[in-house]
Amino acid sequence: MIKGKKIGIKKKETKAKKEVIMKYLDTLSLSEEEMKAEKNGDCSICEEPYDSWGHNADPVSKGRCCEHCNVTIVWPKRLEG
Ligand SMILES: [Zn+2]
Repeated sequence: MIKGKKIGIKKKETKAKKEVIMKYLDTLSLSEEEMKAEKNGDCSICEEPYDSWGHNADPVSKGRCCEHCNVTIVWPKRLEG
């Protein structure tokens, strides 16, 4: 009886955690169109090609940027507010 109750609670908790993780992954995931369009693109700031996904260039530029611009331009801009 007690054992069954414990398992019931555990299952519920696991489901809730899973939902939180799925919601979090949803915010990270790109649509299929975005993936095709953005992978291995050109940096929207310095126009050099970047590998893989690049970085979000907001608020410096719309679109994505390379690792270098992300660290030297986008991050400082974000810290400025
Ligand atoms: Zn760049």
